Amino acid sequence: MEMLLASPRGFCAGVDRAIEIVERALELFGEPIYVRHEVVHNRHVVNDLKGRGAVFVESLDEIPDQSVVIFSAHGVGKAVRKKALSRGLRVFDATCPLVTKVHLEVVRYRELGLACLLIGHKGHPEVEGTLGQVESGIQLVESVEDAFEVQVPDPARVAYVTQTTLSVDEAQGVIDVLKSRFPKIKGPRRGDICFATQNRQDAVRLLATECEVVFVVGSSNSSNSNRLKEIVASQGVAAYLVDGPEDIRSKWLEGVNKAGITAGASAPEEVVKTVVEKLKMWGVTNIDERITAEENLDFSLPNELKR
Ligand code: SF4
Repeated sequence: MEMLLASPRGFCAGVDRAIEIVERALELFGEPIYVRHEVVHNRHVVNDLKGRGAVFVESLDEIPDQSVVIFSAHGVGKAVRKKALSRGLRVFDATCPLVTKVHLEVVRYRELGLACLLIGHKGHPEVEGTLGQVESGIQLVESVEDAFEVQVPDPARVAYVTQTTLSVDEAQGVIDVLKSRFPKIKGPRRGDICFATQNRQDAVRLLATECEVVFVVGSSNSSNSNRLKEIVASQGVAAYLVDGPEDIRSKWLEGVNKAGITAGASAPEEVVKTVVEKLKMWGVTNIDERITAEENLDFSLPNELKR
C-alpha cells in the first residue's frame, strides 16, 4: 500500500504562536497559567499544556483575582476583555492576528454605519468573539438558506466578513447569494479565510484525487479539520477524522492501494508521525508527499513574552 502526505498540513503560524504564548507564560510566571477556552482545538496540545501547569477554563469566573490569563487563538469579544481587565487579571492575548484582522474589519464597517453579516458557524468560539466586537448591527449567516433570508435595515449599506476556517467553496456559495441580494455589499478585498486554511484545503483536494481513503489528523472540535474531511468526502473519497493512531480501524484500509494523510492546523506533526507509523505496521511501504504550497509566515509574540 502507498501513502501520500499532504503538504502543507498541521500547525499554522497562528497555532504555533498561541502555543508558544502559553509556554512562555509558564516559563516566566510559573504555574498555574489560566487559559480561557482550549488555546487551540486539539486534545494532544491541551493535555500536554495541562501537564505543564496550564489550567483551561471556559469562564473568567473560574479564575482567581490577580492571575495570569491567556485568551485562546480563536479570540474573544470585547466584554470578555473588559471583564478581565476590571478583575485585575494579567492578560496575554493569543488571538491569531488573522482573527484580529476580522475583528478590526467588523469595527470599521460598524463605524461606517454598515450592517455587518458574519458568515460562520454558530457557537464556534471564533464566531462568538467576532460577534462580540460590537454591541449591535452584526448578524450571523450560517448557510445559503440564511443568506437568502437575512434582512438588513438598508440593502445598500451592508458588509460581510467570514470565520477564518470555513470551506472556501462553501463560503463562496453564501457570498454569491449575498452579492446577488445586496449588489453594493462590501467585503474583505482578499477574503477572511486565512492562508493556512486555504493551503490545507488545496493540498487535501489534490490528495483526494489520488487516494481511496484520506485520514485527517485533528480533534472533533477543530473547525478547519472538519472542513478538510468534508472536502475529501465531497469528492466521493472515504474520509476519517482521527485524533491519533488509536482511532484508526484496519477495516478502513481493506482493498486500499493508496491512502492519504493530512492534518488540521491545530494538529501536531508528532501525532501525524504516530499515525504514519501505525499505517506502516498495517502494510504501507511507499511514502510520498504532495507539496502544493510553501509556508514561511511567522507571527511575533507579545513584547513581554519575547525571548
Ligand atoms: S487557522 Fe488561520 S486564523 Fe486560525 S490560527 Fe491558523 S493562521 Fe490563524
